[in-house]
Amino acid sequence: MDQRRLADNLEAVRQRIAAAAKRSGRGADAVTLVAVTKRNSPEMIRPLVALGARDLGENYPQELWKKADALGDLDVRWHLIGHLQGNKAKKTLPMVRYIHAVDSLKLLQTLDALAAEVPDAPPVCLQVNTSGEAAKHGWEPAALLAEADAIAACRSIPIVGLMTMAAFGTTADSARPSFVLLRETRDALRARTDLPLTELSMGMSNDFETAIVEGATLVRVGSALFEGVAP
Ligand SMILES: *Cc1c(COP(=O)(O)O)cnc(C)c1O
Repeated sequence: MDQRRLADNLEAVRQRIAAAAKRSGRGADAVTLVAVTKRNSPEMIRPLVALGARDLGENYPQELWKKADALGDLDVRWHLIGHLQGNKAKKTLPMVRYIHAVDSLKLLQTLDALAAEVPDAPPVCLQVNTSGEAAKHGWEPAALLAEADAIAACRSIPIVGLMTMAAFGTTADSARPSFVLLRETRDALRARTDLPLTELSMGMSNDFETAIVEGATLVRVGSALFEGVAP
């Protein structure tokens, strides 16, 4: 693998994050880079961690379990960024620093019940379908607001923000309405509950700068980091 290329990619992504944060009137430290390691082996991930990437994202729980095990000697924070089935919640909860994509009230309530029994339950974001695509998980914005009271009644699991994915195939520009809608939905849910909702998890390789300008605090970037690195 091309370690030099990996270092260059990471540096370029960091600079683009800092520049976009500045355009949004914030410092680079207002945005956390979650390096999405899915489809990359532990051997590919180790050098990335050595370069300083500490927040790593996986979208399948079983993949995350395997990699957390294989890289158990490293000081990393695992983020589950994909769908979590209720029956995998108990095992996953203590292994992760962050859950990005809680996509139903049922799952949220399952996590809330588990969180009541463990110290330091990880913070979670609620996934909102801002693109209208049928294949996307998550609440429709109106459905999320309709369940505001039931969501706010979950007192054990820390609900810290919202998460979304722009439609498949969108560009940096055409993704913008999704990110604006997520921010507006967050503001509306915040107005109806006492949840702080400080986090917006939005933006991937194709569109993370747009997401940051629209308020992202967590960006999930994979291919821009690993591009050209594999042999
Ligand atoms: C794969 C994935 C990403 C990263 O996508 P890239 O285009 O590779 O940056 C971000 N978020 C989720 C939920 C993903 O599944």
